[in-house]
Amino acid sequence: MDLDLNDQQRMLRDATRQFAEQRLLPQAKAAEEAGAMAPELRRELAAMGYCGIGTPERYGGSGLDAVSYALMVSELSYGDASVGVTVSVTNSLVQDPILMFGTEEQKRRYIPPLARGDVWGGFALTEPAAGTDAGGTRTTAVADGDHYVVNGAKSFVTNGGFADTFVVFVRGDREVKHGGISAFIVERDTPGFAIGKHEDKLGIRASSTTELVFEDCRLPRANLLGEWGQGFKVAMKTLDSGRIGIAAQAHGIAQRALDLAVKYAKERQQFERPLSTFQHIQFRLADMATDVEATRLLLLQAAFAKDVVTRNPGARYSQAAAMAKLFASEAAHRVVHQALQIHGGYGYIKEFEIERLYRDQRITEIYEGTSEAMRMVIAASLLK
Ligand SMILES: Cc1cc2nc3c(=O)[nH]c(=O)nc-3n(C[C@H](O)[C@H](O)[C@H](O)COP(=O)(O)OP(=O)(O)OC[C@H]3O[C@@H](n4cnc5c(N)ncnc54)[C@H](O)[C@@H]3O)c2cc1C
Repeated sequence: MDLDLNDQQRMLRDATRQFAEQRLLPQAKAAEEAGAMAPELRRELAAMGYCGIGTPERYGGSGLDAVSYALMVSELSYGDASVGVTVSVTNSLVQDPILMFGTEEQKRRYIPPLARGDVWGGFALTEPAAGTDAGGTRTTAVADGDHYVVNGAKSFVTNGGFADTFVVFVRGDREVKHGGISAFIVERDTPGFAIGKHEDKLGIRASSTTELVFEDCRLPRANLLGEWGQGFKVAMKTLDSGRIGIAAQAHGIAQRALDLAVKYAKERQQFERPLSTFQHIQFRLADMATDVEATRLLLLQAAFAKDVVTRNPGARYSQAAAMAKLFASEAAHRVVHQALQIHGGYGYIKEFEIERLYRDQRITEIYEGTSEAMRMVIAASLLK
């Protein structure tokens, strides 16, 4: 792996950091209080090309590599973790599976509007009774002529409040566990499909999280994504890519928390000297910086591994992605905890940004596979 970023990657990282500092940080508090991202910010993100960063140019994207994608999500999350996940989902959880498993017709129809950010995407795997055990999907699809009739509900769908294109996983065969699942592309205005409850959350409050409800919803056969019964494979391959986005989100949050802690430690005086002059505080900062740097390296390695796979589709990068997500999210947990501690009582007060980062970080250990699920993936590849 080449540890040096190329000029294009460096430019994207620096431009995104500037955007994060000038545009995202100033709005993050108001957006989380409103519980939603402003539609004009979504339009800006689209205009800046963030919605189709890795999508091939022939489908309207920028055609950049996975390292660029990771840098972008990390820097967006530095400014606002809600923005990081919103952009990550429409790129990696929606366009990636359509690009990997879709027909040429599906790619031409659905990818360009997503890549341009004219519409946004959502990914619906989780259900009330099927979380870590995604093979337990209960939403059903029954063939009826040229259609499938879908009934059931999906939970916790990021971007559900405004997305137009969803990748949804359903069960066709009750007898077969993983092999009974299929993936579909679902358009928002399909009759029988509705957006359910909007979730009220601990963190990433400006990101949208909703239920999806299917009641005798008729999906055309043409919307089957991949082969019938191939849905579990579609989901797992998609999540390999998605986990790089969550590792990047955790990295951005941790880097921001570290920067805030360094600044605060230099400014805050106790015992007539800055906190930063106490060796205990210095050692904390050193541990935090080491966690952030180790995260960056694992993240880049996973993104690099994805780029190798893109050139050589036989290879896999599940283990690298799971290690990056596991380490990044747990390291970010340690870093935000210590950063808040360095802020003392002020860290507990909403006026201080670290309070939001402390809450925003927590989800990185849960979605797109919990830390326990990451350990299962890593152990499975060790023991195979
Ligand atoms: C804000 C938010 C956004 C989300 N966005 C999306 C989205 O866009 N699309 C989507 O499909 N889903 C989404 N999710 C769902 C998320 O991926 C799931 O919450 C997650 O996979 C865990 O599933 P669960 O909540 O049902 O927990 P459960 O599976 O019930 O797990 C509960 C606990 O038990 C542990 N556990 C479960 N099985 C085992 C085992 N075999 N061994 C050891 N421990 C185990 C888990 O690690 C966890 O700690 C989102 C969730 C949230 C909160």
